[in-house]
Amino acid sequence: MHKPQILVVEDDAPVRNLITTTLKTQDYKYIVAGTGERAIMEASTHQPDIVLLDLGLPDMDGVEVIGRIRSWSNMPIIVISARSEDSDKIEALDAGADDYLTKPFSVEELLARLRATLRRLTIMQTDAGESVFTNGKLKIDYAAGCAWLGDSELHLTSTEYKLLCLMARNIGKVLTHTYITRNVWGSSWDNDVASLRVFMATLRKKLESEPGSPQYIQTHIGVGYRMLKVE
Ligand code: CA
Repeated sequence: MHKPQILVVEDDAPVRNLITTTLKTQDYKYIVAGTGERAIMEASTHQPDIVLLDLGLPDMDGVEVIGRIRSWSNMPIIVISARSEDSDKIEALDAGADDYLTKPFSVEELLARLRATLRRLTIMQTDAGESVFTNGKLKIDYAAGCAWLGDSELHLTSTEYKLLCLMARNIGKVLTHTYITRNVWGSSWDNDVASLRVFMATLRKKLESEPGSPQYIQTHIGVGYRMLKVE
């Protein structure tokens, strides 16, 4: 069986050791890098399954590392950073990071994020080229342009449908408000978090059995939204 290989980019040795010790307990393989240049080199040489990336690196900012990797690869990048401001998360996510973990983090949380990302990879590999998406009771037929929850068809407006498809195609990934508005409305004039919130609320009323505690689409306050994998 394929053992996941993780590239750990972290210049702080105690934190790096904590991460690699955690990876060892799960039998994950890993490579380490203490600088941005080294990280980019290891990423291209080893093509790891996931990159765990610290933002404060001695030679360059982690956001630049994300941009450089994104110029040639879609490999999942999970940022682990002490920067906890929403603006820092948004900058890293908009540069192409898949997820974000704030230091100090728990080992359980790190492992949960890794599992979620690995599941997403499996889904994306199995679903590549498929025209029907399924997640829990949700089913989207991209070719027919419609969605169901169990046996009942969801009556969605075109904006709600676009929003749902965007979340589905990026399942497991946190999408920022800017990313979503740019992709759903295709322009920045409507780059308005308030209107996105309204569309998300109407979509959730149709999609979620309890819109107050959503099962499919999770809110990241001040940052964006993520579709979760539902068993
Ligand atoms: Ca650092």
